[in-house]
Amino acid sequence: MEKRLFTSIGREISLLGFGFMRLPLQQAGKQDIDYEKAEAMVDLAMSRGVNYYDTAYLYHDGLSEPFAGRSLSRYPRESYCLATKMPTWDITSADQVERIFDEQLKRCRVDYFDFYLLHRVSRVTYDIALKYDIYGILRRKKEQGLIKHLGFSFHDAPPVLERVLDNHEWDFGQLQLNYLDWQDLDAARQYALLAERKLPVIVMEPIRGGALADLGDEGNAILRAVNPKPSIASWALRYAASLPGVLTVLSGMSNQEQVEDNLATMQAFKPLDETEREAIERAVNVYRSSSVIPCTGCRYCMDCPSGVDIPRVFTVYNLYCVKKSRRLFHIYYDYLAESERAHNCVGCGACLERCPQGIDIPGRMCEIADFAAGPKTD
Ligand code: SF4
Ligand code: SF4
Repeated sequence: MEKRLFTSIGREISLLGFGFMRLPLQQAGKQDIDYEKAEAMVDLAMSRGVNYYDTAYLYHDGLSEPFAGRSLSRYPRESYCLATKMPTWDITSADQVERIFDEQLKRCRVDYFDFYLLHRVSRVTYDIALKYDIYGILRRKKEQGLIKHLGFSFHDAPPVLERVLDNHEWDFGQLQLNYLDWQDLDAARQYALLAERKLPVIVMEPIRGGALADLGDEGNAILRAVNPKPSIASWALRYAASLPGVLTVLSGMSNQEQVEDNLATMQAFKPLDETEREAIERAVNVYRSSSVIPCTGCRYCMDCPSGVDIPRVFTVYNLYCVKKSRRLFHIYYDYLAESERAHNCVGCGACLERCPQGIDIPGRMCEIADFAAGPKTD
């Protein structure tokens, strides 16, 4: 496994990091983790040198941290790095920060965190962090040895990032960085801001929630013409990992095949060359023209009070955008319970502020409901 060593971090970190936000489920649409399958994935990753594991208080409706505790505590503590996050947007008092942190240590069965993040920092959540001095509380945890490295995951525009970086001393930053968001979310500028301060970058959503694993027939063909063997997802992983200053690239893997594929990419890691970069640029242009919704499947918008399964509806619709098949759309849309489909959206707007991608969720639901009511064949 390719490893990265930063003097400020002081130990080698695997270039592939395992994100525990999309673990295999016992039942589609629920958040109950299939422990047997997920532990087998962790075992495979550990056996091949992955030593960075990323969870959060709210992943899998609170079940991800206990899974991290159960699966990783079978290994010596020094053999893995564990990262988790404070749900900044949910905080209403300083006491709550203390309570959540203590609970996280218990859930994860550890007595310190290697990496600890303010979760989903944005204009709105950063104000909450300031109001309750979350940074100060976490800084004290660091002084007590309960946190080794303190950072944040970021979801907003570069000026907000500048403010966050200028106000506090950080050990690293976590950015949504992939070849679409390089422009779309101005990830290029965000990356540059961390580079200017010599802060290691942890990459999240390198495959944009799985969307960049399939660019549609035309987009895929462009990449395969350059190199037919690697998976389409591996191009996205290599794009992120090729950037200097990247400590690790997180992948929220959902099955054994994805673990195998990502391990193959990162074990014999080769940075992208000029021909490959140029092919990605052409494939991206084709992909953009398919009008996909930029949903990463993070599920921060959930639960919808009307029962709509927002990320699953978007996943199915994006499949149509890429494959242009109404028949395929309806096969997958029919898997959703009637109560989870787009037409149940009442436009209350409760989800809008929670979406880090700024998607007009009610507007898109309206559009998808109309589309679903249309013809079922091509
Ligand atoms: S706007 Fe629609 S999708 Fe969003 S929370 Fe309200 S009902 Fe649910
Ligand atoms: S709609 Fe937004 S918040 Fe909801 S899953 Fe997609 S990206 Fe995440």
